[in-house]
Amino acid sequence: MKRPIYLDYQSTTPPDPRVVEAMFRAYRYGYGNPHSSHHWHGKEAADAVERARAQIAALIGAKPTEIVFTSGATEANNLAFEGIASWLANQGRTHVITCVTEHKCVLQAAERLAIKHGFRKVSVLPVQPDGTLSLEQLEREIQPDTGLVSIMAANNEIGTLHPLADIARICERHGVLFHTDAAQAAGKIDFDVSTLGLSFASLSSHKIYGPSGIGALYVNRAYRGKLSPMVVGGGQERGTRSGTLPTQLCIGFGEACAIAAQEQAVESQRLKGLRERFLDNLHSLKEVLINGSLDQRLPGNLNLSFAGIDAEALLMKVRDDLSLSSGSACSAELLEPSYVIQALGFGQDRAESAIRIGIGRFTTKEEIDEACEILISAVHDMRPLYRNYAGC
Ligand SMILES: *Cc1c(COP(=O)(O)O)cnc(C)c1O
Repeated sequence: MKRPIYLDYQSTTPPDPRVVEAMFRAYRYGYGNPHSSHHWHGKEAADAVERARAQIAALIGAKPTEIVFTSGATEANNLAFEGIASWLANQGRTHVITCVTEHKCVLQAAERLAIKHGFRKVSVLPVQPDGTLSLEQLEREIQPDTGLVSIMAANNEIGTLHPLADIARICERHGVLFHTDAAQAAGKIDFDVSTLGLSFASLSSHKIYGPSGIGALYVNRAYRGKLSPMVVGGGQERGTRSGTLPTQLCIGFGEACAIAAQEQAVESQRLKGLRERFLDNLHSLKEVLINGSLDQRLPGNLNLSFAGIDAEALLMKVRDDLSLSSGSACSAELLEPSYVIQALGFGQDRAESAIRIGIGRFTTKEEIDEACEILISAVHDMRPLYRNYAGC
């Protein structure tokens, strides 16, 4: 059987062959413990880890000492919240602001500040119908005791890009820390912490063609000393996150960042072109609704609702040919309509018919054309089943 076409790049990305090659060499020869750097093997591994740290830092305009390795963006998001909680609480800054379309790990980490750390309030900002934030509303929400704002750089379902520089300026004006979940942004769009003015940023390797199981938290050097560790033990990562670093994963993540830094500008234009081609191909279908802003959007993301079509049924129908999702991997398991699409305020039907198309580095024009043909034919087959559908 032919492998289905992969169109789920926001869920995870296939590792780049150059990444696999670098990791393969490291698995074969680079087996020393990077924290046993008194001997040759350990030193070699430690040097490789530091090279990787420098590659990650370079991608986002940070200093290598501002990068803390984690197991992924989930842990990085948790570390940002948990790590800074005590420092903020000690100053009586127990209000945190985030947004309804954030990844679940951010929303739950924010809730935990209230449950575990006695925070007074967690404000969850709504979004506008195109998925963007109102900056006026954000600024109005800031109180004298607000300690932290967490707004993602790029949404994983609808690709919406938030204006980080503007948000950072607002936070700075009010003396509030600013964390961003950049799992979908770093390596895909311009993302430079040195010009943005962020306190923390979370990164994930497997979203940018690196291995899964590794990520990082960028910690602005002004806040490193204020962050408490979540995991204690051997004191690795200068005490911020104990545990032996997975040398081979670090190397793969570093290589993925180096490739992204090199290719991102050209690649994002190519992906935008494929996204436009996808939409053009669907022109014959009626009532295709685009979820999220087309303008402020990740180049490799589309999210469409085919009116009258149940997304789960559509995904089942095409699954021998297309690997697609209706939303984040977590909500796909629950078979619940996406909370992100629901937050746009168009009602349950629109959320139940939403599918996400994730386009990436290994997607070809031919695949886009073939995927569209398959979708068009599936939608045509399914539409007559819906009594209340008036479109065709
Ligand atoms: C994938 C993703 C995460 C989780 O990252 P992991 O590295 O898989 O833990 C968090 N936030 C966003 C926006 C994501 O896309």
